[in-house]
Amino acid sequence: MIAARRRRLPIAMSLREAEDIAGRLGKPSKLPGYSYGLDARRCRRGGQMRGVPGSVCSTCYALNDFYATWTPVAKGHSKRHDGLEHPLWVDAMVTLIAHHCRPPNHYFRWHDSGDLQSPEHLERIIDVCRRTPDVRHWLPTREYADVAEVARRRMLPASMLGTIVDLIPALAAAAFPPNLVIRLSAEMVDSEPVVPMELSALPTSTVQTAAGLPSDRMPSGRSARQCLWSMPRVLGRARAQRELPAALREDAQ
Ligand code: SF4
Repeated sequence: MIAARRRRLPIAMSLREAEDIAGRLGKPSKLPGYSYGLDARRCRRGGQMRGVPGSVCSTCYALNDFYATWTPVAKGHSKRHDGLEHPLWVDAMVTLIAHHCRPPNHYFRWHDSGDLQSPEHLERIIDVCRRTPDVRHWLPTREYADVAEVARRRMLPASMLGTIVDLIPALAAAAFPPNLVIRLSAEMVDSEPVVPMELSALPTSTVQTAAGLPSDRMPSGRSARQCLWSMPRVLGRARAQRELPAALREDAQ
């Protein structure tokens, strides 16, 4: 049974070896698929925003006592951070995701706590997504600069863009694998994210209080949590709905 399962994996690494390198995946009870979390105390942009009243990071659930002090969670975060620089981290993540994320759980959420650590970190995540093409990846982030940097690296050289500057957002969105949705998270509650121009084609998410929601964004009877996933501004509603896991589509209406 184990031998058969290993044959289906894209690389020759056991589940235990992968977990030794990259740590274990999480299985959120309220979402389809699996997830992966890092220590929120190491968020770079989050660290800058934590002391700003009204910011999402100032009330971060992943910074409360439970996450910070409960030993299994803290150990898991620490192990995953240590693994980020391991030369076989991409292989390990591919092994973990290929092992766990099969239909109907072929969804993967990056960073249910924590955030990107560098542009190179995002590059490695993109490698993982490319090597798990049957899995739908969702990466919320406030590290806009890292996303913009990687998009720039993957777009045409600036010298060749010339007069087609209007195409930059579309080019940037096309720079990422089709099975990866990078969703730019708002920094302030009840505010739209202010994102670099070249990232304006990427979907965003906002955190809204019921009081802060405009009347056309808060359907009758829905909670603020149900509206966390806002619609992409450029890609259009139909594509946005396709990008969301089935269990979340209702909530995003
Ligand atoms: S970026 Fe996310 S995980 Fe990090 S401090 Fe802010 S809300 Fe918390």
